[in-house]
Amino acid sequence: MDHFLYRDGALFAEDVPISEIAAAVGTPFYVYSSATLLRHFKLFDDALDGTDHLVCYAMKAASNQAILKTLAQAGAGMDVVSGGEYMRAKAAGVPGDKIVFSGVGKTADEIRTALTGGIRQFNVESEPEMDVINAVALELGVIAPITVRVNPDVDAKTHAKIATGKSENKFGIPISRASEVYALAASLPGLKVIGIDVHIGSQLTELEPFELAYNKVAELTERLRSEGHDIRRLDLGGGLGIPYTRSNDAPPLPVEYGAMIKKTLGHLGCEIEIEPGRLIAGNAGLMVSKVIYVKSGEDREFLILDGAMNDLIRPAMYEAHHDIVAVQEPAPGVEQKPYDIVGPVCESGDTFAKERSMPPLSAGDLIAFRSAGAYGAVMSSEYNTRPLIPEVLVHGDQFAVIRERPSFDEMINRDTIPSWL
Ligand SMILES: *Cc1c(COP(=O)(O)O)cnc(C)c1O
Repeated sequence: MDHFLYRDGALFAEDVPISEIAAAVGTPFYVYSSATLLRHFKLFDDALDGTDHLVCYAMKAASNQAILKTLAQAGAGMDVVSGGEYMRAKAAGVPGDKIVFSGVGKTADEIRTALTGGIRQFNVESEPEMDVINAVALELGVIAPITVRVNPDVDAKTHAKIATGKSENKFGIPISRASEVYALAASLPGLKVIGIDVHIGSQLTELEPFELAYNKVAELTERLRSEGHDIRRLDLGGGLGIPYTRSNDAPPLPVEYGAMIKKTLGHLGCEIEIEPGRLIAGNAGLMVSKVIYVKSGEDREFLILDGAMNDLIRPAMYEAHHDIVAVQEPAPGVEQKPYDIVGPVCESGDTFAKERSMPPLSAGDLIAFRSAGAYGAVMSSEYNTRPLIPEVLVHGDQFAVIRERPSFDEMINRDTIPSWL
């Protein structure tokens, strides 16, 4: 459920008409609903009710300061994957002991930043990384809390680019080598082993792969405990999928996911950590764009938008589907027609949808890409010297620009001319 609904023939974000935001900020833009963000966070938090737990929002999905602050004020921790994200989380007021540091390639500088500012734990992905964290901790005279990310070798049954839990993926250490790697960790004086981490991929639409992985984590917990390790926290990653279309089978709900977690891991008495990103932000955001031209091709009509692949890359990168709706609600019974919906960038990949049924549209009409809140704005670029598009946050009947569109001067002035020119 989200808070982008038609009222009296017009699409609203909570209590604000989308057309009003478009008039104020220009198109294209991203708009997020505070109520939807908070609702999704609460679904996870409630799903783990009764167990000691922390929901750490995987902020790479959408990392605007205003989004982080909205979630942090509701009690969310953060899962960060870079020094920059760590700084963003701190800037949004998240205390270090609620920030988890994930990622396969943490640099010594990033590790130093986190150890200095405070960190809940590092999820370690390799032995060389373990050595570096140990060295930096000793240099700073602190002890770094760690889990080891294990790769359970399960098929997440998702798009290849976002599957992370198979042995061929670059993530984690093979679960078969866990005893050896934990023994190494325990021998390093700058580290304190506190748990196990697993994350098998993104946009999972079934519980089964999670359950297979978590059963392996349960076994591993018992084994590592018997080998003398103090396993008291299980970080279960993110990855629960969202419905990108209204028609297809809905992925499992957070409450079902939470019940499965309790069933597979509840008996271990561990603190549970989860790192959802997409499910919190995905359906909490739209990208709104305007039709610039309706162009008749030989056998089809194109809607040429002012938004492009640089603004929302998911269709080009992951063959992702986004439902696309007209901001002005089509009159009942109006006949739909197929359009190819494209951006203005000079690449055939700049195609959002082919033969998509839409109500008849004309130049100047606004359309909205649904489910664009996660991996949307954060993956945008200035390709073609197109300014990063603004982000807007709605809260009830209020809205605020939470990131401005840069001017062309600002963009150009980021470049510097060397002295010999
Ligand atoms: C990307 C990522 C997540 C979030 O995945 P979603 O599919 O957005 O829920 C969580 N944990 C780690 C380690 C990640 O890399």
